[in-house]
Amino acid sequence: MASVAAAEGAAAALRSVLSRAQQAAARAGRAPGSVRVVAVSKTKPVPVIRSVYDAGHRCFGENYVQELIDKAPQLPEDIEWHFIGNLQSNKARALLAGVPNLHMVESVDDEKIANRLDRVVADLGRKPLKVWSKSTLVERNVTKFGVDPSGCAELAKHVKLSCPNLVFSGLMTIGMLDYSSTPENFKTLANCRKEVCKELGIPEEQCELSMGMSADFEQAIEMGSTNVRVGSTIFGAREYPKKN
Ligand SMILES: *Cc1c(COP(=O)(O)O)cnc(C)c1O
Repeated sequence: MASVAAAEGAAAALRSVLSRAQQAAARAGRAPGSVRVVAVSKTKPVPVIRSVYDAGHRCFGENYVQELIDKAPQLPEDIEWHFIGNLQSNKARALLAGVPNLHMVESVDDEKIANRLDRVVADLGRKPLKVWSKSTLVERNVTKFGVDPSGCAELAKHVKLSCPNLVFSGLMTIGMLDYSSTPENFKTLANCRKEVCKELGIPEEQCELSMGMSADFEQAIEMGSTNVRVGSTIFGAREYPKKN
């Protein structure tokens, strides 16, 4: 059972994160509304998520398909869910069918999953789905800390040209393999956006940047992030079931 204290704590922590995010945006000379805070609720029980919803928040993120499919129907329909985890092709249908209010998939990392999502959106007669391409900052190129921007642009272009049921709308990164990030990582993604926008012929405002988590969201905002994914700072440390 989620305790009342946990629920109240999360709502208060949310308010503090929102105000810190606004201040970071202001320091970077950006408008207060220029940053979206995704409250990452993975492993957290429905009543605690509900308390953050009741505090006025509507944007939540989850990274396990089954967990999101279980929780979403127990929560209000006007939540905008962001899927932020690794998505396997064979789970795309379950995710889209099970979560009608899925707002976007931030973590599309290859053409195969893009194609699959495109098909499923069409099959379900769903409105076009926003997707972001996930830049594997390290997996692609460990030594240079960098996405190879052409790879990044390629995937974005594929979505734009070959996936009529998807709307390419940004770039996302988790930073390094251990989820830590450095200013160089943030800069890499910001540069990647320049590259992608040039390639696609779209203004930079049409390509969001999802970077920054609990430990570094203010710095990420100062470096151009438009979407931060904050979990433990809002909801407290995650408790995973013990594996014996
Ligand atoms: C869990 C998770 C987060 C949130 O991490 P915190 O450090 O708890 O804020 C952000 N992004 C992704 C992709 C995650 O899986």
